[in-house]
Amino acid sequence: MSADRLQDYRAKRDFGSTPEPDGGAPSAAEERPRFVVQKHAASTLHYDFRLEDSGVLVSWAVPKGPSMDPAQRRLAMPTEDHPMDYAGFEGVIPQGEYGGGTVIVWDRGTFQLLPPEDQPDVTFQDLYAKGRLTVSLAGEKLRGGFALIRTGKAGERARWLLIKMKDDEALPGSDITEDAPDSVLTGRSLSEVAAEEGEL
Ligand code: MN
Repeated sequence: MSADRLQDYRAKRDFGSTPEPDGGAPSAAEERPRFVVQKHAASTLHYDFRLEDSGVLVSWAVPKGPSMDPAQRRLAMPTEDHPMDYAGFEGVIPQGEYGGGTVIVWDRGTFQLLPPEDQPDVTFQDLYAKGRLTVSLAGEKLRGGFALIRTGKAGERARWLLIKMKDDEALPGSDITEDAPDSVLTGRSLSEVAAEEGEL
């Protein structure tokens, strides 16, 4: 199943030209599913928010990035499922390739679904299909409850909102992308990765 879910991902990329993973490595079964947020300086800067489900990373592009302030509603556009080993990808996608630009691992960790009280056994796919996914993140930057809510009219391209839930981890008035801009994997900034790994 996960192989089929990566068809779009593979079709967009030439793995002879990009350093991104081809998704061939099997995903490791862990107790808790993983999440990753990658900061991606493509034609426009955005943050790729990815949640593990069924052996792939279900993904959204968030132009302004996540916020720990429940008053901020961040647009999140669905993108193709990515392979699990993408969660560790940090580097430079060559210009001219799909998504050309620099990527850093901005945050990562594990998450738990927060199912509605009356549906304790609901699955990730059920909640995704309903357009109302609530998760609790245990990352280095992002903590606590987040809601992903599908909006927009039927027939339009799906748009979602990513919103910090009001809980003990919420930081009203904060700006986490400004306060903590760098990689949690290597401590590097986007420009440091570009300088160290970019094309000469
Ligand atoms: Mn991206």
